[in-house]
Amino acid sequence: MTVDGGFTAFISLGSNIGDKAMYCRMGIAGLAADRRTVITGRSPFYRTEPVDYTDQEWFVNAVVRIHTLLDPFALLTLIGAIERGAGRDRTGVRFGPRTLDMDILFFDDRIIDTPELTVPHPRMHKRRFVLQPLCDIDPAIVHPVFRRHVRYLLDHLDDEGQEIFPYDDPGGAPLP
Ligand code: AMP
Repeated sequence: MTVDGGFTAFISLGSNIGDKAMYCRMGIAGLAADRRTVITGRSPFYRTEPVDYTDQEWFVNAVVRIHTLLDPFALLTLIGAIERGAGRDRTGVRFGPRTLDMDILFFDDRIIDTPELTVPHPRMHKRRFVLQPLCDIDPAIVHPVFRRHVRYLLDHLDDEGQEIFPYDDPGGAPLP
């Protein structure tokens, strides 16, 4: 917890339907529109190869750092509302196509393990599309379970080389 009572959290964003970068920007704008939340860092956007369920379009992914007065569960509710506002439909295949997926990666250095919320996100340390943008924001963030920097986790990733490329975001809005 910081001196003024807020928290630092990292949120991943991903989309692989339609105007993917636009959906990611909608996610960032949705966080910025909440008066209890401020965006304090934003990674570049990446084009990334699908993992888990591979027969689908490539994704656009990014990560943002926020300062928030919300507790983790209120933040989860907020990102669910932003996803629904972006037309997210949960009827499809798990890990399948989505207009906008937002996950809480870290919430300060808290470890949360409940049916609704697991923090740090349980698969983030295996995913290049999460670790690379996290490192762009701050390679020295420490994963509170593995007690390793995210740079270390990226350098030691055994993911059979998921392809990720910088995304040249033509409509890229400046930081909200
Ligand atoms: P997904 O389909 O991957 O977006 O999964 C969303 C569900 O995962 C939500 O209903 C959450 O309750 C649950 N969940 C568990 N841990 C997290 C997390 N760290 N961030 C976001 N959603 C989470």
